[in-house]
Amino acid sequence: MAGVTQSILVVGGGMAGMTAALEAAEAGYDVFLVERNPYLGGRVAQLNKYFPKLCPPYCGLEINFKRLRQNPRVRFFTLAEVESVSGQAGDFDVRVRLSPRYVNEKCTACGQCAEACSMEVINSFDYGLSKIKAAYMPHEMAFPARFVLDPALVKSGEAQKVKDACPFGAIELDQTAKTMELKVGAIVWAAGWDPYDVRKLDMYGSGRYANLVTNVQMERLAALNGPTGGKILRPSDKEAPKTIAFIQCAGSRDQNHLGFCSGICCLASLKQATYVRDQYPDARILFCFIDIRATDRLEDFAARVQSEAGIEFFKGKVAQITEGPDKGLVLKVENTATEQLTELKVDMAVLATGMQPNTSKTKPPVNAALDEYGFIPAQSGVPGFFGAGAVRIPAGVTEAVADGTAAALKAIQTIARR
Ligand SMILES: Cc1cc2nc3c(=O)[nH]c(=O)nc-3n(C[C@H](O)[C@H](O)[C@H](O)COP(=O)(O)OP(=O)(O)OC[C@H]3O[C@@H](n4cnc5c(N)ncnc54)[C@H](O)[C@@H]3O)c2cc1C
Repeated sequence: MAGVTQSILVVGGGMAGMTAALEAAEAGYDVFLVERNPYLGGRVAQLNKYFPKLCPPYCGLEINFKRLRQNPRVRFFTLAEVESVSGQAGDFDVRVRLSPRYVNEKCTACGQCAEACSMEVINSFDYGLSKIKAAYMPHEMAFPARFVLDPALVKSGEAQKVKDACPFGAIELDQTAKTMELKVGAIVWAAGWDPYDVRKLDMYGSGRYANLVTNVQMERLAALNGPTGGKILRPSDKEAPKTIAFIQCAGSRDQNHLGFCSGICCLASLKQATYVRDQYPDARILFCFIDIRATDRLEDFAARVQSEAGIEFFKGKVAQITEGPDKGLVLKVENTATEQLTELKVDMAVLATGMQPNTSKTKPPVNAALDEYGFIPAQSGVPGFFGAGAVRIPAGVTEAVADGTAAALKAIQTIARR
C-alpha cells in the first residue's frame, strides 16, 4: 500500500456524487466532496416531485444530508471547483478553487441580511422564472442552510448596510477566492447534466415565447417553493392555462441537436401532465409524442398515467411553434399515423428538452475519453478516474444512485488493490 493515497475525491454533490461519497465513507475511506453550487443536492433539489412514487425531492435528499452530517469521513466543500489534476491512479494531486460565499459559519439563516438588501438578481434555482435578493438562501431546504451574497452585491454601495444588518457577525465582505491542494488516490466525476439550450431550437422560437416553458421550468412552476407558490400559471399574464401541450423530444433524438434519448423526458412530462390535471381538472391537456419511452418498473407508471382520464395523447412530432397575438401558441404537428399536418392552438406549452452531460461542455481536467455525445464511458481511459450519474448515462434518480455506488466501489478498488 506504500505510496497509495487512501482518500477519494468526488466532484459534484448531486444524487450520484453524494451517494458515491457516502458509500465510500461508510466503507471506511476519507472523501472530499466538491460542489460548485452553494448547496448540495444537484438538480433533484429543483424538482417538484419525483417519479415513480411522486414524493417531494426532500424525501431522498434529507436521508443523504443526515448521513453526511453523521459521517466525519466526508469533508464537503460548496462553491468549489476542480482547477487541475495531475499524477496517476493512487497518487493524484488536485487543485480546487473555492469561491467566496461572503457568509461564515456563524450564519443562523435568520434572513435579516436579505431584509436589508434591495438588490435583486436572477434566480437560477427557478431557471430564470423569478428574481431573488442578492443576499439569499438558495432555497428553503438548502444544505448547508447558510446564506450567500452575490458578488454584484459585495461590489455595490449596499454591501455595508447588508453586513451591518447581520446580528451575528456572519458577513465577511473581504473574503476572496482561495485554492486548496488535495492528494487523492481515486476520482469520481459526478458533475451531472444541463438542460439542452432552448435558444438552439429555432423551430420552437429559440426561447423567445413567454408561454413556452421548458420541462425544468415546469417543475419550478409546480413547486410550492417556486415562483408562483406552486400554482401553474402562464408566465405572460399569470392566468391559469385552459389548454396546455407537452412537446416531447424537443431537440432530442435529433442529429442537429441532442442525438440521443435522455430516457426520462417522457416520464417527466407524464408526471407534469398529472400536476396540471390535478390543479385544473377541466383543462385540455395534449401530449405530443413520437413514442413513449419507459422501461422496467417505470412502464407501470407510464401505463397508469396513460390509462387515467384527462390527458389526450397525440402521436405526432411538433415541427414548428409560432406565437399568436394573445401570446398563445400555434403548434404545427405532423400526425405520424396519417402523415397529415395539424395545427393546434394552446395557451401554454412545455418543451421536453433533454439532459446534456455537463462533460460535453466542460471537459474534466484529465485526459478522459468522452463518447460522441460527451458522456464519460465506463472505461474512461484514465485509471483511477470514474464517471458517475448523468455524466455517464442520462438517467433517473434510481440509476444515478446505483451508478454512484458502483463508482464508489471502483474508486475503492483503485486504492485497496495495491
Ligand atoms: C424535467 C426533468 C424531470 C425529472 N424528474 C425526475 C423524476 O421525477 N424522477 C427521477 O428519478 N429523475 C428525474 N429526473 C432526472 C434527475 O434529475 C437525474 O437523474 C439526476 O439529477 C441525476 O443526478 P446527478 O447527480 O447525476 O446529476 P445532477 O443532479 O446534475 O448533479 C450534479 C451536481 O454536480 C455539480 N457540478 C457540476 N459541475 C461541477 C464542477 N465542475 N465542479 C463541482 N460540481 C459540479 C452540479 O452543480 C450538481 O450539483 C428529471 C430530469 C428532468 C430533465
